[in-house]
Amino acid sequence: MSVARFWREIPSRYNLIGSKCGNCNKIMFPPRFICPYCRRTGKLEPYNLRKKGKIVSYTVVHAAANGFEEQAPYTLAIVELDDGPSVTTQITDCNHSEINIGDTVELVFRRMGQDGEDGVIYYGYKGRLLK
Ligand SMILES: [Zn+2]
Repeated sequence: MSVARFWREIPSRYNLIGSKCGNCNKIMFPPRFICPYCRRTGKLEPYNLRKKGKIVSYTVVHAAANGFEEQAPYTLAIVELDDGPSVTTQITDCNHSEINIGDTVELVFRRMGQDGEDGVIYYGYKGRLLK
């Protein structure tokens, strides 16, 4: 992802703000301007997502993406939030053998990585198992 896009998305990334459709009540993340479910416009409102969900799928990444080499191997999971939307997130603070589909996680704010030699440090949410 480009640095510009990352910073543009910071308000929603830092606060986990999605959108809620006033017409069909679906909740989306990242925020949208048009509801993908009922296709109505103008009724979407910011919605502060609860930072809890369940793991629906996960994979252990051994060949890390650029900038994440120091963290490999790490677990990338699809977490279905209690509010409905799914997010792809790294699972942190545990051994990957402890992770199971259906586990409850909470999203915690963590350092994500560093961008090149300029050292721009990204922060974002990672999932932590709630046991
Ligand atoms: Zn809708």
